[in-house]
Amino acid sequence: MGDTIFDKILAGSIPADVVYEDDAVLAFRDVAPQAPVHVLVIPKHRMESLDDAPEAPDAVVAAFLKNVAHVARCLDLLESGYRVVFNTGADAQQSVQYLHAHILAGRPLGWPPG
Ligand code: AMP
Repeated sequence: MGDTIFDKILAGSIPADVVYEDDAVLAFRDVAPQAPVHVLVIPKHRMESLDDAPEAPDAVVAAFLKNVAHVARCLDLLESGYRVVFNTGADAQQSVQYLHAHILAGRPLGWPPG
């Protein structure tokens, strides 16, 4: 059990603006949104970053990825499109050491990212 802010959100000890939850994932709005829609999806099976995925059970990784797409669908983003980001490690400026997918949408998104 870790003690990141996302561990605490998952444990219910600090609040979050939850948009979706099932047995495998929790999805909530980012507290500092970088786009009109900015939602974070975390797996309930604890991983620190995407770098832990190769050792995780295939079913856990598959459920997580499928749920990222499901949350985007629930948010009605299919027509406009959306971006999914996994910041991983120092150069990507990962600031919370609990695996999370950013779903960003609601405006044209520049490429390449900064
Ligand atoms: P990253 O930089 O990829 O690790 O992303 C961490 C994200 O978590 C940032 O976009 C933060 O704005 C967001 N964040 C930090 N604390 C909270 C919180 N309590 N509730 C929702 N989002 C948060």
